[in-house]
This record gives sequence, structure tokens and C-alpha cells, in this order.
Amino acid sequence: MLNTKFINKNVFKNTINLQSPRFKSVITTDYKLSSDILPKETSVLSLVQPSGTMHLGNYLGALSCWADLCKIKQYDTQDLIFGLADLHAITVPQPQGELFVKQRFDTLAYLIAFGVDPEKCNLYMQSDVREHTELAWYLSTITNISSLSRMTQWKAKSVSENNKTTNYQNSSSSLGLFSYPVLQAADVLIFKSEFVPVGEDQVQHLELTREIAEKFNNQFNCDILKIPKVLLTPTKKIYNLKNCEKKMSKSDPRPNAVLYLSDSNEDIRKKIRKATTDSITDKAFRFGPSERPGISNFINILAGIERKNILEVEDDIKDLRSHSEFKQYISEKIINWIEEPREKYHELISDPKYLREVALKGKIHAEKKAQETLRQVRDVMGFTNF
Ligand code: AMP
Repeated sequence: MLNTKFINKNVFKNTINLQSPRFKSVITTDYKLSSDILPKETSVLSLVQPSGTMHLGNYLGALSCWADLCKIKQYDTQDLIFGLADLHAITVPQPQGELFVKQRFDTLAYLIAFGVDPEKCNLYMQSDVREHTELAWYLSTITNISSLSRMTQWKAKSVSENNKTTNYQNSSSSLGLFSYPVLQAADVLIFKSEFVPVGEDQVQHLELTREIAEKFNNQFNCDILKIPKVLLTPTKKIYNLKNCEKKMSKSDPRPNAVLYLSDSNEDIRKKIRKATTDSITDKAFRFGPSERPGISNFINILAGIERKNILEVEDDIKDLRSHSEFKQYISEKIINWIEEPREKYHELISDPKYLREVALKGKIHAEKKAQETLRQVRDVMGFTNF
């Protein structure tokens, strides 16, 4: 279950140190998810923001794990809840009205097309379950401002282009962007989630979630809020194609730096051809993030989509000689893999009735569960009057 074999081979520059006691609740899975990771009775929650087209980092850091969990699920008591963090998405400007509705259902279609099976899990939209925001308010009253100020995502997002300042404390960012991790804690805790499969950029927020849950339980002398664990894939951080020090991100302004799940075959070939790698010509293509970050990023991508381990991928590519041969090989593998789900996405998007049914089923399930936890929270806090 725990991936120790590749742990030392999988250390890219700038990744967090998962051995640190600060991150005591992180489980790294193998490239192929083993079915014994899911206890017979458990609850899993993870969301993605419908804030633009999803990219390969979203797939490999989160969606691939959601899809695998759907595949290995055997019992109804293994409650998988996935969906759209649309309340989080609005912490930065989004399209409004019908356009935002379309963007959200688009994202839902991508989730299903890329393997998140609505027959095996509940897929819902966060804004359909109002209990999230109520719990977030209660939790915000026990969360320190100093803890929120430490969050690296807040620092990065608040130093935005618009603010034109490098001092995030003086930025004009919204309160919602600052308190984002409290809402995220409410998302996870309201379902008593045991596992939260996310990419590495969310580990710090999840550590805060654990702290908030422990504080709540201590303060109200109860054990209502379950302390969650983070599930990371070995592809927990996919790098930008133009800068191997930065993660692949939806908000990157350079179109060639990100591989989107909607990219055409031609886009994929072009972006990979132009990707930054290195000029080492006298060695085979091997995984080694500190020496060859660009090459290693692609090897890791391949391992993630083919569900092979690094050694297997290295063996597959051992006869490739030039960088152009390597890039062509990677492009064709990605194209081969992406064609079917990309096609499925187009089918799904032309069936809005089906997508709405999926979201409604998810809402009903999520709402029922959230209401039960919120009732317990209100009881223990002293908000039950009638
Ligand atoms: P977001 O788009 O920020 O809502 O992210 C959705 C999911 O994708 C989260 O679990 C992120 O941690 C994950 N994710 C985002 N970018 C990357 C990346 N470059 N590599 C791996 N996972 C990522």
C-alpha cells in the first residue's frame, strides 16, 4: 500500500518533505492503486474547482485516484463523494449566470469522461449543499488568523497580477480567498471523511483541517469530527512544461506550458515538442528529478497514465536515443490514452439531462449526510432551541 520502493526516486525539487512530522497523515499510493487501501467501511471526499479547463496535473494528482477508487470499490459502506468546489472557484472572478452553469457542467462531464464512475460514487456540486457554508462559519470562529496567513496557496494567489504587489498582506484580495481553507475543512469534515485524495498543493490545507477538527473536538469535548488522512498519488505534482520549478496550473498565462484534457492531438504534439527538457545527449532517458527535471516529469506522467512504475517505464523507453524521439514517444502515448475520454466528454456534454440527473443524485446523498453532521455540531455547540 505504502510506496516505499520509489520514495527516494520521487523527490522533485520544491516538493514538500513528506517525512516531516508536520505531515503525519499522508499516505502515498502506488502507481497502480491496490484494493486493500479502502477499508470495508469508509468515507472519501475530494473536490475540484470548476474554474477553467482541467489539465493533466488535475487528472494525475486527483482524478486518476478518484477513478481508481471507483474501480476498486466493493461495498456500499465505502462511501465515495466527489464533485465540484464551485464555492471555492468564486474566490477569484468567474463567468456569471448561464456561463458559470455551463462551465460547471462542463467540468462534471470531464470527471465522468475521465473515469469517475457516477454508478460507484456520488458526484455533486458544493453549492447545492448549503451546510458547507454553515459549518465553515462555525469552524472559522476557532481558526487562528495566523494559521491562515501561513498558507502558501493564499500567499501565491493573493500576490496576483491585478494586485501588482509582492506584499500579500497589503493586497486587495478578498476575505473568501483568505478563509478558503476553512471552507475546505468544512467540506471534508462534514462528511466525516477518512481519506482525501488530492495533489501535493493541498497537503498543507489538509493539515490545517486536521488541526481544526482536533481543536473543535477538544473545545466541545466530543469526537464528532473525524480526523482525515491525505491520499497522494506518486504523480502528486505535475510540473509546468516550460518551467520545471513550477506546478502545472490552470491559471498559467502561457498556452504551451499546460497540457489540457481538451487539447487536440496537434496541440499535444506541439506543446511537448516545445517543452523545456535538457541538453544531455550522452545518457539514456532515466528518472532523476534533480538532474533531469523535464525528462523526469514526462516519465512520471507516463507512469501515471499507464499505471506502471518508474522502472517499467524506464525499461519501455530504454532504446530511445534522441530528445525528439523521446518527445514523439511521449506525445503518441498521451494521445493514445486521451482519445477515448476526450470523445466521451463530447458525448456527455450533449446530454445535459443526464448530467443534471447525476448532480441531483449526488446532491441528495451529500445533503443528507451533511445535515446529520451539522445537527450533531449544532447540538454540541448549543444551537438546538426547538
Ligand atoms: P484545483 O484545480 O485547484 O481545484 O485542483 C484540483 C485537484 O488537482 C487538487 O486535488 C489539486 O491538488 C490537484 N492538482 C492541481 N494541480 C496539480 C498538479 N500540477 N499536479 C498534481 N495535482 C494537481
